[in-house]
Amino acid sequence: MNSSEQLSLEQVEKIIHDFWNTAPSNSLHLEGGEKAWALPRMAIAKGDDPLFSRMKELIGPFLWTPEEAYALAYPDAPLPSSELRVISYVLPQTQATRGDQREATDLPSERWARSRFHGEEFNCELRLHLADALTEAGFPSVAPERLPGFDYRQSERFGLASNWSERHAAFIAGLGTFGLSDGLITRWGKAVRFGSVVTPARLSVTERPYAEDHQAWCLWYAKGTCGVCARRCPADAISTGEGHDKKACFQYIRDVTTPYTTSTFGTGATPCGLCQVKIPCEAQVPPVLLSKS
Ligand code: SF4
Ligand code: SF4
Repeated sequence: MNSSEQLSLEQVEKIIHDFWNTAPSNSLHLEGGEKAWALPRMAIAKGDDPLFSRMKELIGPFLWTPEEAYALAYPDAPLPSSELRVISYVLPQTQATRGDQREATDLPSERWARSRFHGEEFNCELRLHLADALTEAGFPSVAPERLPGFDYRQSERFGLASNWSERHAAFIAGLGTFGLSDGLITRWGKAVRFGSVVTPARLSVTERPYAEDHQAWCLWYAKGTCGVCARRCPADAISTGEGHDKKACFQYIRDVTTPYTTSTFGTGATPCGLCQVKIPCEAQVPPVLLSKS
């Protein structure tokens, strides 16, 4: 294929699905070799969607737009945002991992800890694989989260924040909206992780079913009910008054869950996710809210 041809959504989805199906890294590294993730899903945002600039204004000037991330990867061949697309994908936790994590109360389950560690290693490979496959197909692409400059900064308004946000890209692409605990509620639930790639391939853009309402699929924000995720948090880091207390969450993960999973399962990373299961939005959008969108 050369760059005068265009890619279809099906071709991009096939790249993601083939890698999910065959990469040895898509594994919890348990006996039996079960996969780290259920089948990935994807959506496409316009590179010049005004929400990218709006997010930058809200979060801080350090947040990259797709155009800025692309220019960092291709300084000699930058492209205007209007010529870019953002492919955002969701990696849903498996039924087995969600089932184990539902039983957990204060500390993450073994499968969850493994998906946070080994599963994220796979996610990093998938980001690079997708960008490389598109580049080889004639569309030089980049996975912003894999750029050497990817980092965390202090946002005046939101505390610690990364300079490329997979969750915000997913929201803009139409994959989901934010919940009380800050996690993104997708059609496959909140027990998920995300990745993204910026590309000049002129892919059809996904319709965003919730327009710009960034909390449309959370029962607390939409109807003033639920709040179950707040009751699931062992660190009292979620409240219906204040939302997600990032500092309390970070401290619990640093002081309690990370040392536990490291010494018990030999996994690293920063696992917790107790607020992502045993809740109405664990594996779906609460159905009562979908009738609105
Ligand atoms: S558990 Fe309830 S309050 Fe928490 S994010 Fe999900 S829908 Fe919103
Ligand atoms: S990740 Fe853990 S500590 Fe943080 S809000 Fe969720 S349950 Fe609480």
